[in-house]
Amino acid sequence: MQTIQTGQCGLCTHFGESHHSDKALVSIITTKQAELSLLDECGHPKHSSLHLKVSPISGCDGFTAAASA
Ligand code: SF4
Repeated sequence: MQTIQTGQCGLCTHFGESHHSDKALVSIITTKQAELSLLDECGHPKHSSLHLKVSPISGCDGFTAAASA
């Protein structure tokens, strides 16, 4: 497990956006810890059509904090 910082995908509202109530994703937001092997789709409008897959420690300037992050 790795600590996830603000600005990284794991705490972004777009990480796994189509299913962000999944237990694994909620757990990242509440514990700020994630398995680095986890990959999920970025739902950012500029990335979603490309089906970009990111890890919890990835990041970009489109970061938007998840509601409870
Ligand atoms: S790539 Fe950017 S917009 Fe997508 S989940 Fe990561 S930080 Fe958020």
